[in-house]
Amino acid sequence: MVQMEHVLNGPNQYDGAVTYYPKFRRGDAMAKTYTCRDVGADCDWKTSGATVDEVMATVGEHAAQVHPTIELTPELMATVRSVIKDE
Ligand SMILES: [Zn+2]
Repeated sequence: MVQMEHVLNGPNQYDGAVTYYPKFRRGDAMAKTYTCRDVGADCDWKTSGATVDEVMATVGEHAAQVHPTIELTPELMATVRSVIKDE
């Protein structure tokens, strides 16, 4: 499983898409991030939100649209929740 330490990656990682996260300053809310790869899906989709619940809701929508064959069992949702990490 992917562990913490979200180091800035080079610009090549995601097709040159914005990968430079501004360094969080103290006082800023921590963002929660989730990547499909973290649960073993062959999908580079990722999302972030202010809270785990917000991310979970977005993940649910994404799963319904992009992974309609994946059944969102309580076990899977627990796994999703467990891989959401602080950015
Ligand atoms: Zn996905």
